[in-house]
Formats: sequence, structure tokens, C-alpha cells
Amino acid sequence: MNNTTKNYLIERGIKPSLQRIAIMDFLLKNRTHPTADDIYQALCDIIPTLSKTTVYNTLKLFTQQGAALSLEIDEKNVRFDGDTSVHAHFRCKCCGAIIDLPVDQVNMVDPKFLEGFVITEINAFYKGLCDKCNHEASLIQNKSIN
Ligand SMILES: [Zn+2]
Ligand SMILES: [Zn+2]
Repeated sequence: MNNTTKNYLIERGIKPSLQRIAIMDFLLKNRTHPTADDIYQALCDIIPTLSKTTVYNTLKLFTQQGAALSLEIDEKNVRFDGDTSVHAHFRCKCCGAIIDLPVDQVNMVDPKFLEGFVITEINAFYKGLCDKCNHEASLIQNKSIN
């Protein structure tokens, strides 16, 4: 198993069981912001002893320990992200893709309004159509006009 992932977990105070390493490894390698179910489906063949409850509990632990982010960008499912650096997310309402967007400034809110506050999390969610879906939508629109 992957030693880098093992150390990543140890550094965040998480006891690195084989199942935890496999789940973290999956999150670090798949930057698609999977749901708990996606992760279970992807790993249950490789780890037959894995249960959905273990996946849910592990993701909860990862989030608490700062090893992963949980995103509430999708109305139906919580999504998980192995990239815990500050970045914004875009969700396409057409194909459902969740895309990482780098941010050029960490302070999206003027810091003077945050005096006395403790910020534990910054989430920026953008929603709309991705360029691919937007392109397809405009093709359909042009067709119906003609
Ligand atoms: Zn799309
Ligand atoms: Zn992300």
C-alpha cells in the first residue's frame, strides 16, 4: 500500500488502517469530488470486507481531522474532496460535474467584517453550465431557431 497516503493520515492524527488508506488514496487520486457511495462502489470489489458504514464513518473522521473536505454543493449528496487547500467549486447543473477553481485571493470577504470571528471553513460555490454543456445548449438553441 501507498506510504505517502499512510503518512498523510498519521500527520493528521488518523490511525492508518488498510481501509482508511484505501479510501484516502482514492480521494487523493480521484479529483471528481465523489460521494460516499461512489467511493464504496469503487472499492468494494478490491476490499470485500468494506461496508458502507465504514466508508461513511471514515469520511466523517477525515473531515473532522482536516484530511478531506465535505462539500454541500450538490443538493442530493455530500461530496468529498481530498484537496483541502482553499479553492472554489463549480457545479454544472446539466452534467453534474464538480470542477475545481483556483482562487486568486483567500479573502473573499473584506476582513474588516470578520473581526472577532473565527473562520474554520471557507466555501465558494459557483453553479451554472460548464463550457461543454453551454456549447451544446447553444447548438440546440441555434437549431430550433433555424
Ligand atoms: Zn456540464
Ligand atoms: Zn475541490
